[in-house]
Amino acid sequence: MSSTMKVKKGDLVQILSGKDRGKQGRVIEAYPRDGRVIVENLNIVKRHTRPKPIQSSSRMGGPQVTPGGVIEKAAPLPVGNVMLVCPVCKRPTRIGMTVKESKGGEKARVRHCKRADCGQEIDK
Ligand SMILES: [Zn+2]
Repeated sequence: MSSTMKVKKGDLVQILSGKDRGKQGRVIEAYPRDGRVIVENLNIVKRHTRPKPIQSSSRMGGPQVTPGGVIEKAAPLPVGNVMLVCPVCKRPTRIGMTVKESKGGEKARVRHCKRADCGQEIDK
């Protein structure tokens, strides 16, 4: 197991399990430490909140009240539940890593599509 995530912020991914299985979305937040990602508009959880007064002594006037209701929020998904959609062949794919050396001698890890009939670099 590797601690480096192959999915990054900004990637297009497909959900592999759960109620949003098969849907695609853009990664808006990545948490490599937790191995989780937040995908835009997917894995939405609803949180019901009750109206409650805010305790505030710094303001004049009556007590402030937070409106109750339902808050919809994209919850983090385990990165194992998503698959990167290759920007070249537009299909969900496994990702391979290659180390490329630039002209300046700097080494960079480059992700590539693992599909045999594609194999293109993902990071350009
Ligand atoms: Zn591809």
